[in-house]
Amino acid sequence: MPTFARVHLAFERGEGVWLHATNGERYLDFTSGVAVNALGHAHPHLVAALAEQSQKLWHVSNLYEIPEAERAAQRLCAASFADVVFFCNSGAEAVEGAIKCARKFQSANGAPERYRIVTFEGAFHGRTLATLAAGGQKKYLDGFGPPVEGFDQVPFGDLDAVKRAIGDETAAIMIEPLMGEGGVRAVEPSFLRALRELCDEHGLLLVFDEVQSGMGRTGELFAYQRTGVTPDVMSLAKALGGGFPVGAVLATDEAAKGMTAGTHGSTFGGNPLAMSAVNATLDVMLAPGFFEHVQRIALLFKQRLAEIKDRYPALVAEVRGEGLLIGLRMLVPAGELVDATRAENMLTVGAGDNVVRLLPPLIASEQEIAEGVARLDRALARLARAHGHSGKAETAG
Ligand SMILES: *Cc1c(COP(=O)(O)O)cnc(C)c1O
Repeated sequence: MPTFARVHLAFERGEGVWLHATNGERYLDFTSGVAVNALGHAHPHLVAALAEQSQKLWHVSNLYEIPEAERAAQRLCAASFADVVFFCNSGAEAVEGAIKCARKFQSANGAPERYRIVTFEGAFHGRTLATLAAGGQKKYLDGFGPPVEGFDQVPFGDLDAVKRAIGDETAAIMIEPLMGEGGVRAVEPSFLRALRELCDEHGLLLVFDEVQSGMGRTGELFAYQRTGVTPDVMSLAKALGGGFPVGAVLATDEAAKGMTAGTHGSTFGGNPLAMSAVNATLDVMLAPGFFEHVQRIALLFKQRLAEIKDRYPALVAEVRGEGLLIGLRMLVPAGELVDATRAENMLTVGAGDNVVRLLPPLIASEQEIAEGVARLDRALARLARAHGHSGKAETAG
């Protein structure tokens, strides 16, 4: 179905931050399959792990124990607030699972009437019917019948609106600790802290959707670790399998108390092939020095982007984001910069709020980040010419 407005470009091979297109050209990938290929393309450790597992066992179903899944779950729990994990196959499924977990928690506590979830305007939680209702974006809901009941959307960052939205039927508050699709908007730690307090006060669960911000993107394994605020439930996907489709719902024992045998399921979820991808991804990310590397190149990138913004004040309004989840809010249509970077053989992707997202693989070297900045500079110079003005540095000679 023509549900995607695709660019006329296809790739046959990848290597680290580089993609080789069928047209013979080489592209610098600062999209990472939309925050998926955190370890770049064809990472040797991932390739070896998948190759090995593919010769042993792909799938057995959840009728049986899956040691690879137990190992992945234990590692995710050891590295986070969580006690238990449910594996699924995508981000939307992970968010659906988190929503079900929150509703069932209240029901298990004897309050089945508490099923409503407070969410935020501009959020993106996926494309299934419930996650669309959670995101509340009219353009995505239009024509698909009545939205799934039970989501109360409040303006981004409006604590009073959150307080007003909490009622006798509220089960949880759900938020992306760093909003991705909605325009790379950071949430103040003080706001997250206030949400935590409200949840504790009213017996609600705090759900973080870390499908995009998780798995090293912000320079820690999870974005919440930088905020000092711990959720009760968290959804993961995108980079979790380094490019292999896999999602997960993480929760504390208490938050998951309603998720007993038979309450939820998945045919494919947690299969050995996917779990070998998760374990291999964790091998790389949890190795000493990995996050220090991400933090170092992220700092370098942000400094260079600040210079870029100063050079093109008529084009770039703001550099936003954390770690390697960076957005440039544009003063011309964001799509023009995405096209211009592609003309410089560099891949970037748009986001809401007229933002261009820059999502290099976390394994990018300093030189590759510098190469990205150089291409971005040329792309902006291209745009400046097209709009009939030159960059500041050019006019300054
Ligand atoms: C991408 C994304 C989703 C949906 O993930 P899919 O794998 O496309 O279903 C959900 N939440 C957030 C925050 C995302 O960025």
